[in-house]
Amino acid sequence: MAEHAGRRSVREHQEAVRELVDAGLAAVRRTTTVTPAGLLTAASTHGVLAPRTLVVDAVAAVDLPGFDNSQMDGYAVRAADLAPAAHGPVALPVAAPVPAGTTPLPLDPGTAAPVMTGAPIPVGADAVVKIEDADPPAFPDPGASATVRFAAPAAPGTFVRPRGSDAAVGDVVVPAGTPLGPAQLGALVAAGVAEVEVAVAPHVLLVSTGSELVPAGAPLGPAQLHDANGAALSAALAQVGCRVTHRVVPDDPAALRAVLEAAPDDVAFVVTSGGVSAGAYEVVRQTLTDAWFGHVAVQPGGPQGLGTITVGPVEARRAVPLVAFPGNPVSALVSFELFLRPVLAAATGAAPAHRPRGRAPLVDALDSPEHLHQVRRGRLDAAGRVEMVGGPGSHLLAHLAAATLLVHVPPGVAHLPAGAEVDYWEIR
Ligand code: AMP
Ligand code: MG
Repeated sequence: MAEHAGRRSVREHQEAVRELVDAGLAAVRRTTTVTPAGLLTAASTHGVLAPRTLVVDAVAAVDLPGFDNSQMDGYAVRAADLAPAAHGPVALPVAAPVPAGTTPLPLDPGTAAPVMTGAPIPVGADAVVKIEDADPPAFPDPGASATVRFAAPAAPGTFVRPRGSDAAVGDVVVPAGTPLGPAQLGALVAAGVAEVEVAVAPHVLLVSTGSELVPAGAPLGPAQLHDANGAALSAALAQVGCRVTHRVVPDDPAALRAVLEAAPDDVAFVVTSGGVSAGAYEVVRQTLTDAWFGHVAVQPGGPQGLGTITVGPVEARRAVPLVAFPGNPVSALVSFELFLRPVLAAATGAAPAHRPRGRAPLVDALDSPEHLHQVRRGRLDAAGRVEMVGGPGSHLLAHLAAATLLVHVPPGVAHLPAGAEVDYWEIR
């Protein structure tokens, strides 16, 4: 075990990332006011709702509902007029009908007005009898003089939705801290909320490093590969409420320095992929020498970097956190899941801080390096048991894409027999 003595535990590195990144986020934290429609612009442009969380309670500007209205298609009546129905049917002349979107006349005593679901209850009426319970159980033609009979009394308030019963003017309709999803946006619009205050998404500079990398979609030369990490980590950061500026640099310290110097001035922190191992051409490790580089007792994702680096032009240098992940795509994404996602999800509120977790028996036995926390990719079979998707190799990105679980094999475990229970995180 001696050669592993210098490794940080997963927990130690999680804590170190949290402390550093939280400080970086606090240094740039800003809020902005937006209209509910503005929140929807991103959704209509990109087909996804940008994860946003309210930072100030949103207060109803109008009552919800805005007027007493009917819960049923039926007759608006004065409950007192139907009291005699306890002893025998009560017949009432039919008043003018109330369709949705019209303001009804007050209800004359001793009459019943046809009212449609959601339409206003006429002043004077205090109950609705649903059409099925009226005799005849169908509305007369508008304008025709008609009579309707009721076989039973109706308690005051029956099938009336009172004004303000969902939220009254001045009530908090969506509290601070709530992620804004479809129901919240609908409620804000319904309650006449003109503007809300939301946190500005933290801006992250994501740098893929590697002289072998070619941008997404570009033709591949010999020994080249597409920058999968740029796509994967951009999406992962966006899912937890971050805005991403992404750059690709070769294994050249000058190129990396140039990208950092040109960093947008509101960058909260920098994430890199690749170039952190102990080999030659490790551009992140060789360039950003103020940061810590070492090993975490995890597989994949052992080599990691973490520290404070300077970004921006010489005359406006700023210190920001650096979180440096290894380049193999499964290593990079598993590192994100373990170390960065929980911090960012908690900070932005854009996603639950933890992935849904579970525990289930293994379909097959597995081996794991005893001194490491191993993270394997898996899925549940029809019987609810955990089966592996591919092997432990950190290059198996297509297998990760086919998996639904990250399966955790803790340090100290070298072998698990079939049927042994394992902990997992659901990753989609
Ligand atoms: P590194 O951590 O820089 O030594 O990278 C290890 C391996 O990960 C490289 O040889 C590539 O095969 C792969 N790799 C590095 N960066 C990326 C990337 N952005 N996208 C896909 N694969 C990558
Ligand atoms: Mg590399």
